[in-house]
Amino acid sequence: MTLLGFHDVTKSYDGATRPAVADVSLTVDPGEDVAIVGPSGAGKTTLLRLATGALRPDSGRVTIDGDPDPDRTQTALVYQEGALLERRSVLSNVVVGTLGSQSRLRGLLEPLYPRDPERAIQLLERAGIAEYADTRVDQLSSGERQRVACVRALVQESRLLLADEPTANLDPTTSQRILDLLSAALDDRSLIVVIHDIDLALEHFERIVGFSGGTVRFDKPPSRVSAADVDRLFDESATTAGSTRATRAQPRSKPGVQSDQ
Ligand code: ADP
Repeated sequence: MTLLGFHDVTKSYDGATRPAVADVSLTVDPGEDVAIVGPSGAGKTTLLRLATGALRPDSGRVTIDGDPDPDRTQTALVYQEGALLERRSVLSNVVVGTLGSQSRLRGLLEPLYPRDPERAIQLLERAGIAEYADTRVDQLSSGERQRVACVRALVQESRLLLADEPTANLDPTTSQRILDLLSAALDDRSLIVVIHDIDLALEHFERIVGFSGGTVRFDKPPSRVSAADVDRLFDESATTAGSTRATRAQPRSKPGVQSDQ
């Protein structure tokens, strides 16, 4: 049974000359982990926002478990570390996460008792930041803060976990750790991550979706993603979306990228 379904989904922003997401069909099964890669302006974030329900499609349907009007507690978004409550402790940030993204204000007003302290602490331990449970997040490094953001989403136990560039600006070791943390939680849950580092995507994910100009350009396992696929993905964006090649994340060594030759 499909967990997340995009069925002929189109979304345009007011005043835009072309849709940010154009007639996209895509399904994700329970337990799958999917990386979405592509140039800046491709529509990747819009795709995630459609999946969380923060945006509604102009046409087509987004379903969760087949439901076109799903309970949005089924999805948890890893916010960028900048969205943490700076003056609150790590544990407070994680607990506010259990109230869901729509309830941030309510979360601020409620007394901060963990709903499931055991689980929150387990996850903080797995993330290697349990010792900071009582520390204000503004005292932490960028990598530690990003781990807090991940735990905050994981503690919600939603079936669909989404993250937009969770490894942006982090060193390779910390990036690996963040992705390990997110994928360790899988089981019957699914993970969709927008990621600009192609190497990291190829190493970590079982399915790679190349997205540009608002559409899916390829959708395959990493072993079948060729250097030409990656080149085309960024070249097409230069002509269809007006992006420049300068925005491209250059693969460093392409360990999993097969040559088309
Ligand atoms: P990506 O995440 O791949 O960089 P986005 O989904 O953020 O792409 O953006 C896709 C397109 O939609 C871009 O052309 C962007 O400028 C435009 N866009 C994104 N958000 C808005 C918005 N709130 N209002 C108007 N246009 C937007």
